[in-house]
Amino acid sequence: MDFKCRICGGNQFKRVTGRSTWEIRACLFCTNASTFPLPISDRQYNDHPFFKYSIKDAYRWRLAAAGLIRFITKSCSRGSLLDVGSGGGFVIEEALAAGFQAQGIDASHLAVIYARSRGLPVQEGYFQDSSFSQSTFDVIIMNHVLEHVTDPRGLLIKAYNLIRPGGCLCLGQTNYLGTVPRIFGSYWYGWVPSEHYTHFSLSGISYLLKNIGFQIKATKITTLFWDWQRITALSFQHWPGAFLNNLAAFITRIKFGFPFVGDQFNILASRN
Ligand SMILES: [Zn+2]
Repeated sequence: MDFKCRICGGNQFKRVTGRSTWEIRACLFCTNASTFPLPISDRQYNDHPFFKYSIKDAYRWRLAAAGLIRFITKSCSRGSLLDVGSGGGFVIEEALAAGFQAQGIDASHLAVIYARSRGLPVQEGYFQDSSFSQSTFDVIIMNHVLEHVTDPRGLLIKAYNLIRPGGCLCLGQTNYLGTVPRIFGSYWYGWVPSEHYTHFSLSGISYLLKNIGFQIKATKITTLFWDWQRITALSFQHWPGAFLNNLAAFITRIKFGFPFVGDQFNILASRN
């Protein structure tokens, strides 16, 4: 089997979970995991309607975006900000409200039209192909982006070069080592084997960031959404995702289950 970890080059894996057509393999060295077989392409997002979920559930997406911006402002100074994969534009909106000069980039034509219709500055295209000047941004956010690309190291190096010395990178990732993925195995909503190449662990992505030259400033184990009012009003349209997310939030807050952790994490790193 000639299958190498795209993060560390390791070639020893253990099976985490899977179904008849796909499986998840964790690298024994760096602990990041890979989907096998790999998704067909990381350029499948031009007509992607993912942002429509955020419009249907705008209240919770705004809360999550505001939480992300608070996480950033605790450790990083305000300035110019780029949200990579900006979707419906909720993170840009919260960043503008917090005093950043914020803009976004997204490959989905539909998402860009929607965000622009709300007056938000968004460029259409893939971040990999973008031509921003070096050392332009004080903050770059990639919220659920890295798992979608064939070359996460290349994407992070590009981000590193676009961030000013002392500036910050903020990542939001699924945590496949969380309690809910461990309990539900292949039924966890976070695998998305047709789109996700890599499933990062907190220690695994820290290894990659440090290897590129970033310094880790803060980490936070979390869940996609958390809100007491809505926990009893599960969206049956997005069941079982909504149910599993609420269960993950419950486990994280109440410290119930093993290893007591949610199925998402945020990590903040700075460029030297
Ligand atoms: Zn590895």
